[in-house]
Amino acid sequence: MIELQRKEECCGCTACASACPVNCIEMQEDQEGFKYPQINKDQCINCHKCETVCPVINRPVQGEKPTAFLARTKDTELLQKCTSGGVFTEIAREMVEHGGIAYGVVYGEKFKVQHERIEDLADIEKLPGSKYVQSDVGKIFSQVKKDVEDGKRVVFCGTPCQVAGLKNFLGKKRDNLLLIDLVCHGVPSPKLWKSYVELIEEKHGELAYANFRSKRLGYHVSVMEERFASGKSQIGSARTNLMSKCFFQNAADRPICYDCPFKTISRCSDLTIFDGWHATEYVDGLKDDDKGYTIILTQSEKGKRFVENAKDLILYEIDTDRAISLDGKMAVASVLRPASRAEFYELLEQRGIEDTVQALFPISKKDYMIEKSKLILDKAGILQKVKRMRG
Ligand SMILES: Cc1cc2nc3c(=O)[nH]c(=O)nc-3n(C[C@H](O)[C@H](O)[C@H](O)COP(=O)(O)OP(=O)(O)OC[C@H]3O[C@@H](n4cnc5c(N)ncnc54)[C@H](O)[C@@H]3O)c2cc1C
Repeated sequence: MIELQRKEECCGCTACASACPVNCIEMQEDQEGFKYPQINKDQCINCHKCETVCPVINRPVQGEKPTAFLARTKDTELLQKCTSGGVFTEIAREMVEHGGIAYGVVYGEKFKVQHERIEDLADIEKLPGSKYVQSDVGKIFSQVKKDVEDGKRVVFCGTPCQVAGLKNFLGKKRDNLLLIDLVCHGVPSPKLWKSYVELIEEKHGELAYANFRSKRLGYHVSVMEERFASGKSQIGSARTNLMSKCFFQNAADRPICYDCPFKTISRCSDLTIFDGWHATEYVDGLKDDDKGYTIILTQSEKGKRFVENAKDLILYEIDTDRAISLDGKMAVASVLRPASRAEFYELLEQRGIEDTVQALFPISKKDYMIEKSKLILDKAGILQKVKRMRG
């Protein structure tokens, strides 16, 4: 039976709860809002399945050294909605178009960040965009298993720990399943996100749209964008946006993220995806149009075949080591645990997100002025020019 001595021993993937043959494991939220397995010891039959499938205890086998591609969707409208080059959403669309199933992360009720099963093309529009919060996996692993065993073609996208957990849970190699993991910085808790949503709704009314990485000011000026039912909208970078600030300060991540066991170049997935910030440095003559590219590492022949045959992906094969050294540092390194992590969630509980940010990493008047100047330059139509001049 899984008995956690330290929070750092659990990534919250749900493999243990999904594999338990007597359903005696429940994922329960702790004070910080992260879920951990709680075992009903009276019901446990000591089969040890939970330990066998735990990806922290048993890391699934990795592939060979991957091939790297710089990629983006050909669909310019979709590209604008996606975080980088829209690779996952494009693959999901292709899968669903051909009768398959896509599992990805969407906003559910009250903007809860959760994994969802998608079989209708109309629902693909829920997928674009990274949501920088640990997603609620719910009972998704069992649904994936059923779909795969029913012979359906399935694509699943998640953090490296979620993908490793799913792989262990499924056990056997599955030809009809494509696993995609992200390069993951680390995940803040859903409780933080909930308190942020409550705060902005208190100030501006019902939230209608959220995008952690909007391209409204271009791919290279990453901003959080929110729109409200009232028609009002706001954008802000990690300099001034409370939620982005918490994420990029690394003060709110799940404890295991500070020493993540899944930080490797070769992985158990079929594809690994991350931001292609340095696109023009990989491909001769490529112009940076500031619309975003994704880097894909193909971790298996199946993954490589899939992307090479995807009709709506633009692909350039690039050097893997260069891709890792320029853009993939977070593929191999965990974020550092800042001193502020120790009191972050206690302060959040006592004083809310606004006061917590002001107490731990305050937003200055200068920050607001820099942010405002970006909007003024954008309105004047010269933000891109100034960005290019500043290199
Ligand atoms: C928590 C988190 C941290 C990240 N950290 C980094 C980083 O440090 N460096 C880097 O280069 N890239 C990072 N990424 C990946 C990056 O943000 C892009 O997701 C990636 O470049 C793919 O972009 P895309 O346009 O191809 O994806 P899109 O087509 O926009 O699809 C994004 C897909 O990502 C999945 N996803 C979104 N949110 C989550 C979530 N909370 N949990 C699991 N899966 C999710 C969904 O299935 C979603 O459909 C991170 C992503 C997440 C979710």
